Amino acid sequence: MKKYNHLFGPVPSRRFGRSLGVDLTPHKTCNFDCIFCQLGKTTIKTVERREYVPTGEVLEELGDWIESSGEADYITLAGSGEPTLHSKFGKVIEFARETSGIPVALLTNGTLLGNADVRAAASKANVVKLSLSAGTPDSFKYINRPHPDLSFEQVVDGMKTFREEFTGKLWLEVFMLWGVNSTQKEVSQIAELAKSIHPDRIQLNTAVRPPAESFVHPMPKEKLEQLVDQFTPKAEVIAEFSSDFFPSTQANEETILAMLQRRPCTAKEISTVLGLHPNEVSKYIGKLERTNQIQSTSAKGNPYYTAP
Ligand code: SF4
Repeated sequence: MKKYNHLFGPVPSRRFGRSLGVDLTPHKTCNFDCIFCQLGKTTIKTVERREYVPTGEVLEELGDWIESSGEADYITLAGSGEPTLHSKFGKVIEFARETSGIPVALLTNGTLLGNADVRAAASKANVVKLSLSAGTPDSFKYINRPHPDLSFEQVVDGMKTFREEFTGKLWLEVFMLWGVNSTQKEVSQIAELAKSIHPDRIQLNTAVRPPAESFVHPMPKEKLEQLVDQFTPKAEVIAEFSSDFFPSTQANEETILAMLQRRPCTAKEISTVLGLHPNEVSKYIGKLERTNQIQSTSAKGNPYYTAP
């Protein structure tokens, strides 16, 4: 299979079927540093919008993938950080839609939607999936560890304004963390906020993949399921608890398992050695951990994975 610098997958996704990932930032370039981030700690925390990777190269790779009869259910802007920080992400969405005919999804933390240019670019996508994990400014600071220029109120206002303008599908992923935002009071605050944004769908997720901070724990499945009726519209649980989901990932899982049986590795090492995008690696190690085939240990703040 051809190797691209800015595309990864298609990877199986519960929400998007087979999804071709487009990565528009260097590793962990984000204006948040969420305690649950599956990509590890943010290395470049910034609110600066610029062309982090050359748009021409991304369009060339997309064009090549489409020409070689690339097939996917969605083309998804997601990857190593916050895609809306890339100043030309709208151009990438436009090109992908027009050239491939495949629907495009934008996965964003929604923090820059107060900016009219960002809203105009985001509105070119078929689906925009926002994330929400805090119902108050204090919780926002603790969970998302935002860049100092971001305020909770501005972020929420930006999301609401976008909803008023956007005619495509707006999904809201609510990230629940056991013992962090899981009290009834916090759930009610998040649910109220979620309702005020008027998304088409609300999806409950939790930290089923190894998070940035080892003190973060997933919310048990049955607890998540008890919350669905508190949301408007009624939420659905999309956390990948099941061990038999995604049978097509077998080959990659076996390779990672074989590698870890030889020596402990970090997710970054696995990604470098196997040439897999960190997002893909995170998905595979998440499943291997859930099925107790591997274990994680922390050494100097870096999670290492081992297979007994
Ligand atoms: S979870 Fe998303 S928004 Fe949060 S730090 Fe990671 S990439 Fe940024």
